[in-house]
Amino acid sequence: TTDLLAAPAATTRSEALFARARAVTPGGVNSPVRAFRSVGGTPRFIAKADGAYLTDADGTRYLDYIGSWGPMILGHNHPAVREAVAEALPLGTSYGAPSEREVLLAELVTRLTGAERVRFVSSGTEATMSALRLARGFTGRKYTVKFRGNYHGHADGLLVEAGSGLLTNADTLGAAAPSSAGVPEDYARLTLVSEYNDPAALDALMAARGDEIAAVIFEPVVGNAGVLIPTPDFLAALHRVKDRGALLIADEVMTGFRLSLRGATGLLGLEPDLTCWGKIIGGGLPVGAYGGRAEVMDFVSPQGPVYQAGTLSGNPLAMAAGLATLKTLEADPGLYARLDAYTAALAGGLRAAAQEAGVAISINHVGSMLTAFHQGVPDGSIRTYTDAARSDTAAFAHWFQGLLARGVYWAPSQFESIFVSAAHGDEELGLTLEAAQAAYASLGA
Ligand code: PLP
Repeated sequence: TTDLLAAPAATTRSEALFARARAVTPGGVNSPVRAFRSVGGTPRFIAKADGAYLTDADGTRYLDYIGSWGPMILGHNHPAVREAVAEALPLGTSYGAPSEREVLLAELVTRLTGAERVRFVSSGTEATMSALRLARGFTGRKYTVKFRGNYHGHADGLLVEAGSGLLTNADTLGAAAPSSAGVPEDYARLTLVSEYNDPAALDALMAARGDEIAAVIFEPVVGNAGVLIPTPDFLAALHRVKDRGALLIADEVMTGFRLSLRGATGLLGLEPDLTCWGKIIGGGLPVGAYGGRAEVMDFVSPQGPVYQAGTLSGNPLAMAAGLATLKTLEADPGLYARLDAYTAALAGGLRAAAQEAGVAISINHVGSMLTAFHQGVPDGSIRTYTDAARSDTAAFAHWFQGLLARGVYWAPSQFESIFVSAAHGDEELGLTLEAAQAAYASLGA
């Protein structure tokens, strides 16, 4: 076999670090999915990353399909990004005053996306939280609508029937709505929840409550329940919310600059009032952003009455990494087609390997995002969180461990997308499919 790893690798250093981490950090991690709770085993502590590969604290190399949960579309340690940050570093790491790179990135983002104004923050959570406050300030209404299984970060009003880590940690987080302890019912009450890909449900909700609703926020392609692709009918219903005076907010934190230079919005022909970005826009450094029509964005302080601020917003190193990443994407027009082709070949290879082993899977993929749900329904037929939730998570966990033991680091949850990067090529595809065949065979046996 040409598996990346000849034999399951030692995890001694990761285990020791995890034990020390648990003594000083809740659950030993700074973000829940990293703890491997839903798949079991020791989370690998990463020492370095390069191209498509991670190297852990024990010196073992893994082929990476997480890409830091989305930002690393160019692969890790890309020279353009590394050099841009290195160039910015000696000029100081934070000013608390405006600087040229913020203007350059804002000009680039507005040109690429069609937004007229953009405001930089430091995470995707801040972007969605701020966009909702802006929508409430602009419309003078207080309710918002989100979709079951969509994840928009961890602001109080958005932790209602949420996706991502919340789908696998329900034991510790409690009941369905709100999705987290510590979110008062009074906040959760202001978030109305509808089913993704159910245009009739959204129309009915808007007919009943439309004049109280400030905004409808949605993932234009869902990554946080596993990949879910919107139907044309659902997209039409999303556009109709604007007729009721509600703002349409596309959460492109995951899909922005990933599915195309203009995100999922560009791919699907959507026209949101506001868009949220994160991940790729900062090239692996902490950046989020929200933007849209000038008429709406000019409600943000100091221009308007909606307050929003940040000590590290527009951080010079983060702006440098974002600029280098977006410029590199723009300079390589064939890149998105290559990512698509890799992901389609991966989907085809997984399908064949699972079939051969008699393992039931159903694949959803678009661009460089893919989820292989462990359930026996046709590819592409999983459209809602309720559909995704029927997956066999025990089978997924077994398969995940089979891949990891062979050096392929898949997303450690059934309800996440994997992310393909520009550093994934033929060799990586071959290694992945070989590992996947062996992992499916051990599951089917
Ligand atoms: N929105 C979406 C669609 C996301 O996928 C995420 C994170 O995964 C967020 C918002 C929150 O972003 P962050 O983790 O940077 O706060």
